[in-house]
Amino acid sequence: MTTTKSLQTTATDANANLFERAKRSIPGGVNSPVRAFKAVGGTPRFVQRAQGAYFWDANGKQHIDYIGSWGPMILGHGHPAVLEAVQKAALDGFSFGAPTEREVELAEEIIKLVPSIEMVRLVSSGTEAAMSAIRLARGATGRVKFIKFEGCYHGHADALLVKAGSGLATFGHPTSSGVPADVVKDTLVLEFNNIPQLEEAFALHGKELACVMMEPIAGNMNFVRASHAFASRCRELCTENGALLIFDEVMSGFRVALGSAQAVLGIKPDITVMGKVIGGGMPLAAFGASRAIMEHLAPLGGVYQAGTLSGNPVATACGLATLKEIQKPDFFEELGRKTQNLVSGLTQAAQAAGVPFCGDSQGGMFGFFLMSELPQNYTKVMTTDSPRFNKLFHGLLDRGVYIAPALYEAGFVSAAHSDNDIAQTIAAAKEVFASL
Ligand SMILES: *Cc1c(COP(=O)(O)O)cnc(C)c1O
Repeated sequence: MTTTKSLQTTATDANANLFERAKRSIPGGVNSPVRAFKAVGGTPRFVQRAQGAYFWDANGKQHIDYIGSWGPMILGHGHPAVLEAVQKAALDGFSFGAPTEREVELAEEIIKLVPSIEMVRLVSSGTEAAMSAIRLARGATGRVKFIKFEGCYHGHADALLVKAGSGLATFGHPTSSGVPADVVKDTLVLEFNNIPQLEEAFALHGKELACVMMEPIAGNMNFVRASHAFASRCRELCTENGALLIFDEVMSGFRVALGSAQAVLGIKPDITVMGKVIGGGMPLAAFGASRAIMEHLAPLGGVYQAGTLSGNPVATACGLATLKEIQKPDFFEELGRKTQNLVSGLTQAAQAAGVPFCGDSQGGMFGFFLMSELPQNYTKVMTTDSPRFNKLFHGLLDRGVYIAPALYEAGFVSAAHSDNDIAQTIAAAKEVFASL
């Protein structure tokens, strides 16, 4: 019976067809796990093309896209100025393995917009940038141990795939097979927004810590802000103990505000990790810091870091054109207004249907939870009613609204989303909430 059913599906559904085919040649059918819809069930949508706030799947069905490649597409898909810059750059060559002017321009642009950064190194992915930032912090301080927080994601370098050990004296355990216990033994995992625990950890290990790494607005446990008190305590304790504070702004950078989350919080990190928006959808990421810290990097200093495609000329053209657009007057005010309208519209729709709901947003990034109060840490986020979230997800998807296929992911609004798109989304959500 199941065989007949799946045969029927594959005959009519191009997404299911592609997924079956993909699974034969790509593990799980996807090149990044969350795309497989494992958390919510069902068939991933294969994207055929995208324009503005929409993408069309393999069945030709249109969706309002609230993922936007997990953040990079802040202008929406196929923005004409970006497209033109990329096409022009492509004609001049794809990659040289030699320096280009556009790399310098992009570095200058990032430095101009983010005051804590005096020098920047360009790489190709957020994972690479975060991994390199840790190495730089270790090299610059001559220390080995570091702190990260549960629910913050910093890419998949070995030392970062780690969960808390039992108690503050025992360091982390690997969360992925293939990661040797030895590689994470210097990573201390703490609870986000827990000041007493942070203070205790510094009292025990402060002088051995190379750095504290955090997402200042966490977007990998849905949307959880570091409280101002927590972030400033991280800042103080790092300074007092000679450890470096690293803000991983791969997601929040140029997404929540022109000055990124550090401008929203009013706190200066020592090292900033960037990605996503700075590439405008092309593989590009970066890490930056003061001149004194950055000069530890090769070829000036002893911390080795390199990349064949780093500062790629087509990717830098895409990033530069994107950064140019987001500096136009009122860009973030307008984006923030639309995103807030979305969150408040969804909240009203849920409340009208008696569904517990709360949400938050900053700039073009948002999150919501099927609970009545905003959670402050990962453990709390994971108490979300997940069967209910999955119903909401599929209800919206059926109505052409594409949100993240997992309750622990953030959402993204682009400049291309119109007030009408937001209204349509809220109307779709109203119907779904009524059925939950
Ligand atoms: C996406 C993300 C990364 C990893 O970036 P990739 O380009 O996927 O390697 C690291 N840190 C944060 C905060 C992210 O959101």
